[in-house]
Formats: sequence, structure tokens, C-alpha cells
Amino acid sequence: MIRPDSSPEVHELACKLGIDTTDPAVGIVVDCRRLVDSWVSQAGGIGPQGISDISAFESLITRKLSMVVEEIHTDEDFNRLTDKYARGLGDYVFAGLRAKFDDPELPAFGVLIERNTSSKTADDLFVAVIDCRDELTGEKYARRYFTKWHEIAHRLTTHRSSAEPAFRAHEDPIETLVDAVASELGFYEPFLGPALKEVLSNENWLTFEMIESIILRVFPQASFQATLFACMRLMPTPMVYLELSDDPLTIQKVLPNSAAYGHWLSCDPPIGNGQIRESPSVHSTRLCCGQIVHRESVFCRVAASELLYDEIEHHLCDFEFPKLGFFIGRFPSEPSARATANAVAHGHRGVLVHAQARRVPGKVIALVQY
Ligand SMILES: [Zn+2]
Repeated sequence: MIRPDSSPEVHELACKLGIDTTDPAVGIVVDCRRLVDSWVSQAGGIGPQGISDISAFESLITRKLSMVVEEIHTDEDFNRLTDKYARGLGDYVFAGLRAKFDDPELPAFGVLIERNTSSKTADDLFVAVIDCRDELTGEKYARRYFTKWHEIAHRLTTHRSSAEPAFRAHEDPIETLVDAVASELGFYEPFLGPALKEVLSNENWLTFEMIESIILRVFPQASFQATLFACMRLMPTPMVYLELSDDPLTIQKVLPNSAAYGHWLSCDPPIGNGQIRESPSVHSTRLCCGQIVHRESVFCRVAASELLYDEIEHHLCDFEFPKLGFFIGRFPSEPSARATANAVAHGHRGVLVHAQARRVPGKVIALVQY
């Protein structure tokens, strides 16, 4: 669903990687997945005889890519890397790393460095440095797992052959693509699929507790949000992730999974420009970017834990997704989630089966299923 003309950088990257397809972003994700699948099968497949868990999977992939991962847990670790790589091996870029990670304007979460002095066949030709500081409060610590896979995904895409290290802004189309590859690999389907099936058991909806159980058993370093997004990607039923700011509760981000997006596309005819065909109902909640959630709405009561999931059944929601939202494979893009009312939105109505909300520092997150 990505428009091929929307990101010339992605098109150029696909050409560089020798991928010839009408949808270069999807083509790159599929190509990375195929490459990794072939390494897994050479290594004996997924299971006790081959790749037994996600950490064995990571070791295999990094070994194949001649890369090592260095984690920064305390400020002292910057001195350790300076000693090892700059003083010890003559790679002076490591001596200046801290400034990039502590840049007040655009702090890096991770960087991927191709070592100058290394032979092209060295096991540590590439070094990914991941900021894992501030265990108790930090966003960087929470995101360390995804950051690591993001850097691995760079090595598979922008850095497959030698390349200049590039620092890109978050909304760069290449960064969005690299995140899609990172989610595909960091939550490798042969591990995530069975775990998801097991927690779902006979339920038709996903709960926050199920996500936590998957993290605990399969992806122990992953963040709640990254795991939730990966599960949404695999779920065949429509669901929408929401982020709201507080007081008054206002929707800031609307992120549908591809089933919800497909549901929207199949609505015939679409409800245009915020006009709902059926008459507005007191039992209906409008979910779109910028919408204030009213105190008496079912949604507000879920957020305040006044209602449980089985009390919201048959409640109606009018969903409005940004028209130009796009997916790379099954991975919805972050910029589309932030698109606001100035993008022309179309809506569709859904009957809720489950809604859950949780207050986290600075915001409220919610998952709505229908
Ligand atoms: Zn990046």
C-alpha cells in the first residue's frame, strides 16, 4: 500500500540491493526475511537441535553479518569502548561516541559502525553500540531491544555493503523501513507465532496480560510497546492502538493493524469527511487523531478502570484512519499514526469486542478491538 513514488530513497535502496519489485519497501522486508530464513534452515531450523530461542537466533544473525553488539549500561562503558576500539585498535570514531548519545537535540539510541582497521572478513567488522542506560526511568532502556534489532536491520539493508554511517531523523522513510525489518526479525514469526497462539488459546482478542506473558517467556528484553505492535501485525482480527494525552484525554496517535486497515478499505461506500451515515448515537465513540474523549464516554470509563471488557460489548466506535497511512508488509508506519486531521480521513464503524487502557508515564495507551 506504500506509493512507490512516495520515497525515492527506498526505491534507490531496493535497486542497490538488486530487488526489482513494484513495491520496493515490501520487497526489501521480504528479501531480508528470506535471507534470514535461509540462515536458520542451514543452522538446523528452529528447535532444540538448531536455533532454540531468540538469543540463539540473534547470535546466528550477528555472526552471519560479521557484527558484534556493545551495550552501554553506565557512562563508564564509553571509556571501555574508547580503550578497546580507539586506543587498542585505532578506530578513533569510538572516542567521540558519547557526544552523539548525549546530544540534547537528537540523542542517538544506537549506532552502527563499520570498523576502519578491521579486515573485511573479521567477526567484528561492524559494531552496533546500543544505549541501555537509565534502567529505572529511561526510554532508551525500554527500547534497547528494538534499538538493537534496528541496528541489525541497518546492517541488512543500508549497510549490507560498506556504507557511510548515516544519522537520520525519525521520520526518514529509510528509518521507517528499517523499523519494519527490525520488527520482522526481532519478533521472528517462528517464535512469535506459536507464543501468540498459545496465549490466545480460544480467545478472539489480545490483552495486555497476554503481551506480558509473551515477553516473559520468549522476548525477555523486549519492550511492551514493540511486542504489542509485533502481535498486532500477526493478529487476523481488526484492532487499533491508541495513544492519548491527559486532561482532557485527547487521542494523539491512531495505529490500526492491517486487518483493521483492510476492513476499512472494504467498507462500501466509505464514510467521508467525518460524516457518519447512520445517525450519531450516544453509544458511539469517535476515534481519530485530535479527538477529545469525553468524560462520560465508554472509552474514558475503560481508561479509568470503571468498566471491564465484557461491559463494553456492542458499543460502537467510529474509526477514522489517515487516508495516506501506509503499511510496509504488515507493519504500520509511525508517521501515518501521527497524521492529524489535516489529512483527509475516511471512517468506518465497528462494534467493539474488547478495549483495554493503561496509564503509563506521560500518557494513556489503549488497544481497541472490534
Ligand atoms: Zn536508523
